[in-house]
This record gives sequence, structure tokens and C-alpha cells, in this order.
Amino acid sequence: MSAKLRSCCEVRFIAAKAGVINCDLSMSKGFDIGLERLTGGAPSARAAESLWTGVGRRRTFFLETFGCQMNDHDSEKVAGVLLSRGYRQVETPEAASLILYNTCSIREKAAQKVFSRLGEYRAKQSEGKIIGVLGCVAQQEGEEIFERAPWVSLVCGSASYRKLPQMLAELEAGNHRVTGLDTDTDETFETEMTRRDNPWRAYLTIIEGCDKACSYCVVPYTRGPERSRASDSILREVRQLAELGYSEVQFLGQTVNSYADPTPRKMRFSELLLAAAEVPGIRRVRFTTSHPSDFTPDIVEAIESEQKICDHVHLPVQSGSTRILRAMQRTYTRDEYLEKIAMMRGAGRPIAITTDVIVGFPGETQSDFEETLSLLDEVQYDGLFSFKYSPRPNTPATTMEDAIPEEEKGRRLAILQDKQREIQSARNAALAGQTFEVLVSGKSRRENQWTGHTSAHRVLNFTSQEKELLGTYVQVLVTGAGPNSLVGEHAV
Ligand code: SAM
Ligand code: SF4
Repeated sequence: MSAKLRSCCEVRFIAAKAGVINCDLSMSKGFDIGLERLTGGAPSARAAESLWTGVGRRRTFFLETFGCQMNDHDSEKVAGVLLSRGYRQVETPEAASLILYNTCSIREKAAQKVFSRLGEYRAKQSEGKIIGVLGCVAQQEGEEIFERAPWVSLVCGSASYRKLPQMLAELEAGNHRVTGLDTDTDETFETEMTRRDNPWRAYLTIIEGCDKACSYCVVPYTRGPERSRASDSILREVRQLAELGYSEVQFLGQTVNSYADPTPRKMRFSELLLAAAEVPGIRRVRFTTSHPSDFTPDIVEAIESEQKICDHVHLPVQSGSTRILRAMQRTYTRDEYLEKIAMMRGAGRPIAITTDVIVGFPGETQSDFEETLSLLDEVQYDGLFSFKYSPRPNTPATTMEDAIPEEEKGRRLAILQDKQREIQSARNAALAGQTFEVLVSGKSRRENQWTGHTSAHRVLNFTSQEKELLGTYVQVLVTGAGPNSLVGEHAV
């Protein structure tokens, strides 16, 4: 099973005053997670009541996440909402009274996976379990999910997560079908408690939804219009995270750099990065995903002037052909995109650049595809996520002529990936002999072997004689490289 099973031991309390949760956070007795210790409070009657079902069984939830980092982070917030209502997180659907799938519909395969997973748990409903679908598939399919999978009780799109506490209350009151499918909210999803998976790096969504209209993409339909979170609320959370021991924050958004502060302060995105970097205890500030049209010189200046802002930009291009970019409604040409790359290459310190590419968009000729290959040669990306075009419901591209056969899409994808592998191998090999700071995030079973990420987000596996390095920042000398990672040794 490819489930991303979540550990429930890492619980971080974020005391945001967002007014989302209608439960009392000052509970704790029944929690395994030590909320009382975190909040210093006593359990409320209501919360204590919600720890038990009518048959005296503890309420438990299993949450599986498909898709992008934004979905991962939404799941962290959903877990926080559930924990604060007295649920306990478990690691198998069998052990849960509530089974939730946070879903992705960006490509057809991802959406299909959700229905096949739901099918696997059909029998569970008869055991009294409640099954819910969250996220993009929920938003896209809506109440039709009840038709296709009548054993589902909860359908909630990502734009409606703020209503989750009410929806849970309805389920607890015995309602068998609850939905949250509005996208017309101008609020972002903030919670009083977020159960983060990583003890050192914290995700923060700073902008929800998307106002661009790429002709292949479901996101504007599934996540709704663009809504930015108030800069003071973001910075308050960064300060709280630093106090809790997080040293790296990663700002998230489908078009993170389109951030538009809704407060009178009107902080620019680059100012927000700089302000987060100033918070005592914060050593790294990351952000993803940037849209090329909103990628302005002040962002590069911020990276140049502040070492804590990571030297990595993910700037999806999608195609190297201006003709295809137009058909994709990407709002920039190949030359305009290359100007943004030149701006980064001219920065005072090297910036790693990664991208996304779609092959086989309707009407993409061999010559269009070759333009994408030549763009790879020209830009020399440090990383690439590549996809075969997948037609999505309600998007303009589904009705476009000259669909490319699946076999041809596969051929182009393989050529593209081979080229990028060569580029990455050469770029990584050129880093041998240099020393990088690494945030250590893993220890191998092999003795003295550790792993972590550089500021440029390269994976660096290294040897060290130290006994405990997890969560620390160390200097590592690069001694070798493959296409996807570097190897090195602790430089002391
Ligand atoms: N907002 C980001 C941007 O503007 O590039 C992208 C977000 S999307 C979740 C991640 C990537 O999925 C896209 O960059 C694109 O390469 C890919 N993608 C989106 N829709 C797709 C589709 N219909 N078929 C194939 N790939 C798709
Ligand atoms: Fe989708 Fe385009 Fe918005 Fe990215 S910018 S989320 S690809 S519509």
C-alpha cells in the first residue's frame, strides 16, 4: 500500500487567532499527544465528551494524502482540527472510526487512484466506519461521489476546509451525508492547531487558489480563486514556529509569488520573505511554486541580500515553444521566460532553478517538442518534474484538436527525461570539492551515514562520526555526485 502513513507523535500547537475552530483547545486528558502540556489547560467538558463514541469507543482517524505539498499541508491542518476535537490518529484504516482521503485530481491517474482506494474500503462502512473524501477530487466530483461510492459520508473540497469542524459535528450528530463544496470564500484555511509531519521544516500556505487560467489545469476549479493570507498572521505563525524549534519555513501557494497582502500594510512577497528571515531562530525560508509572469527582480534581490532565503527557485515553464505556451494560456513567451532565467543567473550568488514540463499537449509538433529540448540545454535546470499531458474535465484543452497519442507522449517523456538526467549528472558532478550547509533530516541504517538538504534543495548523503545530528545544520564537503543526489563527508 502506497499510503503516506503519518506519525502522530509530532504535534505542534499553533495558537492562531483565526477563529476557525469552534472547539475548546484547553482540553487534553484523553490525548496521547500531550496537548495539556502544550497548552497548559484542562479538558473542557465538551472536548472530553467528544473523545468517546456512543458505544464507548475512542474516536480515531486515518488520513491518507495524495498529491502536492499543498495537499500534504492541508492534511496537517485537517489532522490538527481532528486532534483538537478529541480524535486520535491511527496508522491503518482498520484501526480507525473515521477514514479520510485527501485527494488530487491534477492528472487522470491520480483521480483514478482515489476511486480504486475507495473501492478497497467499501466493506469498512458496514463495520460502522465513516469514510470521507477531501481535496480536489471532492471538489471536482462533488455529490456525484455519493452516487459512485454510496459508502462515502463526507465530501469536502479544499476551499471549504474552514467548515470542517461544523461538518464533523454534523457527522457526530448522526448525519450520514455532509458536503462542503463552496469555492466563493475569501478566506484561507487557518486552524488553531496544525499537526506537522516534519519536526524541523514547517509548511505555511500563504496564498490559496489560483486566478490564472492555464488551459490544461483543474486547480482554478478545484481550489477556487486566489486568496492571500494576511502578512501579520503569517509572520505571527513564523514566530510561533521558531519558538517551537522549527528552523526552516516553506511558504506555499499554487502561484506563491502572486501573493497580495490583504492588510493595509500591503507587504510585497519579497518583503514577506525578508521579514520571515529576520525572525530569530529561522535559518531558512523557502517558497514554491513561482509563476514566471509574477517573478519580479525584487525577489532575486531578496535572495541576493539575505542568505537565509534559500537559493532555489521552482519556476515551471511547461513548454519551450511559444506557440504551445499560447495554447496553454501561460501568459509568457519563451523569450520572456528566458529573461527571468537571465535575471536569476545574474544574481550575486548562484540560484538553483527547477521546473515543470508537460509533453504531448494537443497540437505539440515534433518541432515544438524540440524547442522544449533546446530550452533544457539553454537553461541547464537543476531539477525537472515532467508529465504527459492528461485531459482534465471542464478545462479548455480537452476540446482542442490534434490530440497526441499516448505512445508518442511516452516517447517524448523518455527523451526529455534522458536529456535532463545528463544535464543533472554534469551539474551535480561540477559541485565536487565544494562545501555546503546541510539541514540533517535522516540517518541511514548503515553506520555513520546521514542525509539532508542544502539550501538549494539538493539531497546530500554524507558520512559523519558524530552520534547525533538530526535537525542540526552541518557543513558537508561534496566528494561525488549522481543525477539525483550528492555524496560527501562531514567537514569539521
Ligand atoms: N501553479 C503551478 C504552475 O503554475 O506551474 C503548477 C501547479 S500544478 C499542481 C503542478 C504541475 O502539474 C504543473 O506545473 C504541470 O506541469 C502539471 N499539470 C497540471 N495540469 C496537468 C495536466 N492536465 N496534465 C499534465 N500535467 C499537468
Ligand atoms: Fe494551474 Fe496554471 Fe494556476 Fe498553476 S498557474 S495552478 S498550472 S492554472
